[in-house]
Amino acid sequence: MSANGKGAPVLVVGGGIGGLAAALALSRKGIPVHVVEQAPEFKEIGAGIQLGPNVFRMFEVLGLTEAMFHWGAFPEALEMRDSITGETVIELPIDRRFHDKYHAPYGVMHRADMHNVIHDACKQSNLIQLTTSQKVVSIEDDGQGVTARTETGESYRGAALIGCDGLWSTVRSIIVGDGKPVVSGHIAYRAVLPTAEWPKEYRIPRMIIWCGDKTHLVHYPLRRGELFNLVVVFHSDRYEEGWDTYGDPAELHERFAEKCEPVRTLLQKVESWRMWVLCDRPPIKNWSKGRVTLLGDAAHPMLQYLAQGANMAIEDAVCLANQIEAAGGDYAKAFQAYQQLRYLRTARVQLMARVFGEVYHATGVNRELRNKVLREWMTQGGWDMSWLYGEQPELPHVANVPLPAPTRLAS
Ligand SMILES: Cc1cc2nc3c(=O)[nH]c(=O)nc-3n(C[C@H](O)[C@H](O)[C@H](O)COP(=O)(O)OP(=O)(O)OC[C@H]3O[C@@H](n4cnc5c(N)ncnc54)[C@H](O)[C@@H]3O)c2cc1C
Repeated sequence: MSANGKGAPVLVVGGGIGGLAAALALSRKGIPVHVVEQAPEFKEIGAGIQLGPNVFRMFEVLGLTEAMFHWGAFPEALEMRDSITGETVIELPIDRRFHDKYHAPYGVMHRADMHNVIHDACKQSNLIQLTTSQKVVSIEDDGQGVTARTETGESYRGAALIGCDGLWSTVRSIIVGDGKPVVSGHIAYRAVLPTAEWPKEYRIPRMIIWCGDKTHLVHYPLRRGELFNLVVVFHSDRYEEGWDTYGDPAELHERFAEKCEPVRTLLQKVESWRMWVLCDRPPIKNWSKGRVTLLGDAAHPMLQYLAQGANMAIEDAVCLANQIEAAGGDYAKAFQAYQQLRYLRTARVQLMARVFGEVYHATGVNRELRNKVLREWMTQGGWDMSWLYGEQPELPHVANVPLPAPTRLAS
């Protein structure tokens, strides 16, 4: 018998990385799930995503390690350069020592590959029903279960409901009602290129971040080294609601006009960009109401400066499934326990992401001081990211995720 005791599914609104991870984690506990996605297909955008050791532990719990290793790329180092002078500020090897510290790798993946891996695992489960082209517009919790109604007039009944509907969450607007997300004034342009089109001197298995005043650029290989991902961020007053809009190259080149020659050359490699207006919210501690809760960006949207939004959504999924199992069918209790276990961790990542954004985009004396302090930091033993990458008490213990094979780049 399922955790809800009656066999009614848990409704998951939104089939992004968070929603599909939630569906998979619940199904692994024997709980039936119905995922309702507004888009005509389950799909992710064409861009890269960084994956910390913390999420590789969750892949191990969900039985996805092998598939993620197959599609991922595993850089040998993270390098930070000053985008005005071109000099290297710090270098962090992602080597055996790194692995011995966190007992899991650091990887990068094409989002579509990662989403496909989770989607394929969902399709293999007879406990997961997947519905597309249905935008949920209202929900009603009557104490015995939850009914979700869609734009086209369909209604779905579940024992409980998890809103995994992202930054502009409808479910959040109903159960929390705290208005629109905070527009940061930062804009991201993203592009993916075949490795053959990427300049030879940068065809190396490294994540390189070029930090300048009010801008940064990051690039790394994807898909076993067959592709390169490029993300550019700059401050701008331009605000267009939503995601995945065409990015105007003229504004980009203007913002990077004062940067060093390699940065300007790398930007010239891309003809067509997609644009995102970056938003977050201040942390909250209550994102559940009765039989309804939130997960991922719907609960705790964050800026991308720690590269952890999707990582957090997948941690949420594993934690939530454990709490539902432990509560034996009492969803309201499970949802309270889940948010209590998660809100300080996710709040810390939300707030630290803003701080890292300030560090990357430092100007003038702050920029010089940043470079000096980071270099001193490295000579004093390097940085410790255990608070982020280390094991968490609310998540299952995973002794060790294997070390993946190093990525070799297509020449
Ligand atoms: C530039 C940039 C770089 C980033 N880099 C990283 C990184 O390196 N690492 C990392 O971990 N994170 C990164 N992130 C953050 C990450 O992309 C998000 O945190 C993550 O995608 C959130 O997943 P989600 O499933 O919660 O939401 P989403 O991915 O937004 O998915 C929400 C889903 O719900 C659907 N939906 C919405 N409303 C409804 C509705 N009413 N009814 C039905 N369906 C609905 C949507 O169509 C969508 O499929 C980055 C973000 C940006 C902008």
